[in-house]
Amino acid sequence: MSCDFTALANIDPSDPDQANALLQQCSGALTDPNLWLWAIVFTIVCAAVGALIGKYKNAVVRDTILGATLGPIGWIVSLCMPVVKPRPVCPACKRAVDAGDRHCRHCGTALAP
Ligand SMILES: [Zn+2]
Repeated sequence: MSCDFTALANIDPSDPDQANALLQQCSGALTDPNLWLWAIVFTIVCAAVGALIGKYKNAVVRDTILGATLGPIGWIVSLCMPVVKPRPVCPACKRAVDAGDRHCRHCGTALAP
């Protein structure tokens, strides 16, 4: 008996041992190390492709998470999202500041408006 819908359809409802055997078989399929290995590799590959998309969208973390969690759907979502503008950088200390800041929050240098 294999773990599929055919086995489920052909099961004898009056024999609880058959249902139990099928349940055991399907549970065993879920704990198969090969299934988990493929799931982990697939997740890593999807995250890497998402990171590559994010590199061109200036949103590596966002698109890596989208790729890892949603897979190819996350890639499509990433491709549909707008390019993130890079944050302005303080000319003195080269650290990121917010767009409307008058002074650098890190070193206090006056920023051009
Ligand atoms: Zn600064």
